[in-house]
Amino acid sequence: MSILSLWEKETYYAKNDVIIVGGGLMGLWTAVELIEQHPLLKITILERHVTPLGASTRNAGFACFGSLTELLTDEAKMGTEAMLQIAAMRYKGIQKIKRLVGEESIDLDSCGGYEPLLNYHSAEFLQDQIHYLNHLLQPITGKHNTFSDVTSNIESIGLKNFDHLVYNPLEAGIHSGKLVRMLSQIALNKGVHILNGITVKSWNDNNHEVELFTNSPISFKASTVIVCTNGFTPSLLPDLNIEPARGQIILTKPIADLRIRGTFHFDEGFYYWRNVGNRILLGGARNSDFENERTTNLDGSDFIRETLVQFIQKHFDLNSSVEIEQSWSGIMAFTPDKLPICKKVSTNIITAIACNGMGVALTPIVAESVIQHINP
Ligand SMILES: Cc1cc2nc3c(=O)[nH]c(=O)nc-3n(C[C@H](O)[C@H](O)[C@H](O)COP(=O)(O)OP(=O)(O)OC[C@H]3O[C@@H](n4cnc5c(N)ncnc54)[C@H](O)[C@@H]3O)c2cc1C
Repeated sequence: MSILSLWEKETYYAKNDVIIVGGGLMGLWTAVELIEQHPLLKITILERHVTPLGASTRNAGFACFGSLTELLTDEAKMGTEAMLQIAAMRYKGIQKIKRLVGEESIDLDSCGGYEPLLNYHSAEFLQDQIHYLNHLLQPITGKHNTFSDVTSNIESIGLKNFDHLVYNPLEAGIHSGKLVRMLSQIALNKGVHILNGITVKSWNDNNHEVELFTNSPISFKASTVIVCTNGFTPSLLPDLNIEPARGQIILTKPIADLRIRGTFHFDEGFYYWRNVGNRILLGGARNSDFENERTTNLDGSDFIRETLVQFIQKHFDLNSSVEIEQSWSGIMAFTPDKLPICKKVSTNIITAIACNGMGVALTPIVAESVIQHINP
């Protein structure tokens, strides 16, 4: 005898056309994209926590498409074409967020992005690099000067102990909690179901359908499953080459006369900071302890927090002393080639995983390619 009522059987536990595992940005954008293209599909997102808990609601809230040194490093690793492809996807992703979700609802602040540099060759070399990248990016951003050298502003914007400063007017800050909540609302309004508190533990893809086994005694069934579990994927799909990486953030108490305004990247993006009102949000330093940060444990470490505090002391020119109001961490997922894994792993199971620490702008566009794998 079934323990389910007729009503439950015909609603929550009825077979879905598509189940999405994971309710972060990747899962939500995939659901929104899918229901927009195929409004009749029955789609359910299974999210294991009461609110999404991984990267999407714990990040720094940069709507960014790549700092100068990040793009140059990417080019050296993956080639010019692949670097430009990702930059284009991220640029388009930011435009899509503005179009679909709106700007005010997520506190989007078109503040621009800065990259300070230290020990970075000569001023002439920097000019050449800026010129080179601006030329490559012009067809993507439509701007002649995506990057410009604003080294003379280092002190006036409240920084110290850097050699150069590069500015990009196209980057923005957002409120990550509001973005995830808005997207959830958009998905729900379009008819997507979201079930929280359901941890997917395993599945059986029998070619006709997928049966998902969870912490609920009743299994879920779907014609297609899309796995959007990012840094937590290795427990479900250990053969995929995905490395979890913890990112830690500290937030200061309000600082009087704070001059630091905008979003900032340093050291190929290993350090990032922005103002949130008159507080500073600073994250990163993972490269000072790679080994211990390769984890899904959200506890954070005193070592990284202390490294971040020292960074403030060394590089921020503040009029008053700084107190830390709170700190938190989130989990990212990295792949060796920095590309998301967006492919079929069995007949009816597809992955959309690993935006390599840049998912705010990438997930809206990766979602478009994920749904190409679905034949309703
Ligand atoms: C500290 C930090 C700072 C960052 N800063 C930025 C930034 O400024 N700009 C930027 O573009 N990107 C940033 N990122 C990266 C960005 O946040 C991610 O790329 C993006 O949020 C990934 O979204 P996702 O949905 O793939 O993953 P997540 O948001 O991690 O979502 C995965 C979801 O799957 C759920 N889940 C996991 N396993 C299961 C299971 N078995 N069953 C059911 N549900 C499950 C989790 O609970 C989670 O909610 C940052 C990340 C971190 C951690």
